[in-house]
Amino acid sequence: MNHLVNADLHSHSVVSDGTLTPEALALRAKANGVGLWSLTDHDELGGQTQAIEAASRIGLPYLTGTEISVTFAGVTVHIVGLGIDPTHPELVEGLRETRGGRQARARAMADDLARVGIGGAYEGALRYVDNPELISRTHFARHLVETAVCGDTHEVFRRYLVEGKPGYVPHRWATLRDAVGWITAAGGVAVIAHPARYRFTANEEYALFTEFCQLGGQAVEVVTSAHSTAEYVRYAEFCREFGLAASRGSDFHSPQESRIDLGQLPDLPGQVRPVWELLESRIH
Ligand code: AMP
Ligand code: MN
Ligand code: MN
Ligand code: MN
Repeated sequence: MNHLVNADLHSHSVVSDGTLTPEALALRAKANGVGLWSLTDHDELGGQTQAIEAASRIGLPYLTGTEISVTFAGVTVHIVGLGIDPTHPELVEGLRETRGGRQARARAMADDLARVGIGGAYEGALRYVDNPELISRTHFARHLVETAVCGDTHEVFRRYLVEGKPGYVPHRWATLRDAVGWITAAGGVAVIAHPARYRFTANEEYALFTEFCQLGGQAVEVVTSAHSTAEYVRYAEFCREFGLAASRGSDFHSPQESRIDLGQLPDLPGQVRPVWELLESRIH
């Protein structure tokens, strides 16, 4: 598969915090001209069989995927795993543990929202949840939009649910070592997701990339909906500096909420090595 294939290696279904089923995503990806797709639900592999089967039915090349929540230097960082064996016991068990704290966290988030006069948020968020093990901030955001507390989900993540705002509850996720280790054990490639979103200082970011490489991580998202054109250039340079491959993914969650649809991103910059070159043998 060449450098310019329309790869979209980051997307979410109802198995985590997306609004479409894996089948509907496969059809949408195909209709949008995606040439290589991955479903990367947060801390979950429950949609992988459906995604493999749906993609196969319509002749859409597919890589298995997941997006693991990690705490690094006190900040939540996301590590995508591509080409993993979705039945690998170490990965399956690690993700089950990572999902484990979400129920208690969600109740604490609702308590904190109640403190500022927003009641019933836990029950409200649950109405948007398909997978009971995966209640996320996105489900709370949908509830706050539905009840007109905010105009859209982007406004929610400015005024609520983030550090220093009502509804934010600190949480300890997996370690970077665990996430990269599980992905690698399951035969996959670990990818730093949307690095510009973490707002690290230069030193912290350097530490993340250095440790990630030492642990066996092999790629970084360069072209993603969270990045500006200047950030594509910046992370293409990181690829050269750290010897990492480059990934490309929309992080699509919903036709109503996502700014960039499946398959609608610019191409990878010319100088970088596409991550799918490392994964040829894992493509379904
Ligand atoms: P959680 O895993 O429960 O912390 O929820 C994280 C999810 O919330 C992310 O995967 C996004 O889908 C969503 N999210 C976080 N920050 C933002 C933001 N600033 N704008 C839109 N969605 C966000
Ligand atoms: Mn999400
Ligand atoms: Mn993410
Ligand atoms: Mn994502």
